This record gives sequence, C-alpha cells and structure tokens, in this order.
Amino acid sequence: MVPRKPPGGSVCGAHPVDPAVAICSRCGTFVCAACSVTMSADAPCCRPCEPLLRQDLLLPLDRATLGWPTRIAATFVQVVCRPARTFSSLEKGSPARALVFAAAVLVATGSALTAANVVLRGFPASSDRMWWILRFVWNGLGRALLLGIAYKFVASWLGGYGTFASTVRVIALATPIVLLRLATLVAPPQSIEAAINFLELVGVGIALGLSGPKQQGLPRLHSMIIALGTAVALAALAYFAGRLPPP
Ligand SMILES: [Zn+2]
Ligand SMILES: [Zn+2]
Repeated sequence: MVPRKPPGGSVCGAHPVDPAVAICSRCGTFVCAACSVTMSADAPCCRPCEPLLRQDLLLPLDRATLGWPTRIAATFVQVVCRPARTFSSLEKGSPARALVFAAAVLVATGSALTAANVVLRGFPASSDRMWWILRFVWNGLGRALLLGIAYKFVASWLGGYGTFASTVRVIALATPIVLLRLATLVAPPQSIEAAINFLELVGVGIALGLSGPKQQGLPRLHSMIIALGTAVALAALAYFAGRLPPP
C-alpha cells in the first residue's frame, strides 16, 4: 500500500526545487502540485502514469490495449464477480462494443444450454434448435431492452440527462444475468420459467439502478426505485399477458 502523503521536506521527482504534495498511486513517485493529477479522491498520480491509470480504470471491454477475446472474457468475469462495483462505477463508453459483448454472451450461453438440453432431454428437435437460440436471445436481450426504454423514459421525465445509448450499454453489459437460465438444467423449464424471467428483469433493473448516478445523473435511491419499479411492472405485465387466453 503506497502511503498517501510524502514525508515532510521531500521534493517532486521531476522538479527537485518544488516540495512534494502527493505520492503517485501507481508508481510511487513524489509529485509537486503542478505534476499531481487527481484521478479520484483517493488516487493522485503523476503525469506519465495518468493515461495508464485511466486505462486501468476502464471496463476491460473498453481497453484498447487488449485483444477482443480477452476484453470479452475479462468483462464477463468482472460483471459476474463484482456486479455492484462494475455498474456503479461504469464510465461512458461505446454501446456498439457492449452489444458485441452481449451477442457473444448470449450466443455462447444459448448454444451451451441448447446443447446441454439436447443431451439431457433430447430437446429441442434439430429443426427447432435455431429458433430456440433466437428465443434465448430475445429472452436475454429483447425484454431487457424494453425495460431500458421504459426506465429511460421515466428517468428523463424525472430529470435524468443520460442518453438512450448509455442505457443500451448498461443493458447489454448486464446480459450475463442469463446464467440464471442454467437452473433449467436441474429443474423442469416450465416450472421455473416465470421465476427466471422475473429474476432476470429484476437483475437488469438493479444494474440500471446502480448505473443511474453516473449514466443518468440521478441520485442512487431515485434511480434504484425507478429501475426496480419499472422491472417489476414489466415482469408482472409479461406474466399476465402470458396467462391471457388467445383472442
Ligand atoms: Zn506515477
Ligand atoms: Zn513536479
């Protein structure tokens, strides 16, 4: 752990006549007031380290220094292992890259689940497999996008200033929530489908709520209430729509 304050009398690494006011949180160099860059409240750094530290703070998906497979795999691990931190500190970035991530996650998980179902249950018939994967993509992303549209609409109405693109980015980054569908391998899909749909929407709602302060400029509590309220309303709507008799 790098100490936060340089000892009295120490001088800047680049300017030996200027007193040091901080220690770079990345390389440990003493920096003067002119050299110090504040990345965040607890992480001052020197000028040479600034671009490197900025890269480190980015989501792996947005790090230009990494190859695509690494970006996608590292982002997946980060979203699954530290969802709260990831979504509450999410910087603005490309929604297109996030959609590439979502497509990779959905196709990989959808194919693996389809294959596992074929092995375990002989289901679905080969002609239906493509359809099954498409339905998986709709379940994983389509419904979440509807939630994003509804959340963004309410958030803007209450003073949120984020773009729709940033909402799409959050939704796409939240697609690892489809891992919940692995539960269909141990329980009959029909019996738990409604519960999974509900939990998926709530999970994506939590991601949206956490990202609200940075992406929409909303207080966290407001963002959370809007996101979860919208998710529960949408899940209830989908549930009852599914129970209505056909016209
Ligand atoms: Zn440094
Ligand atoms: Zn200096």
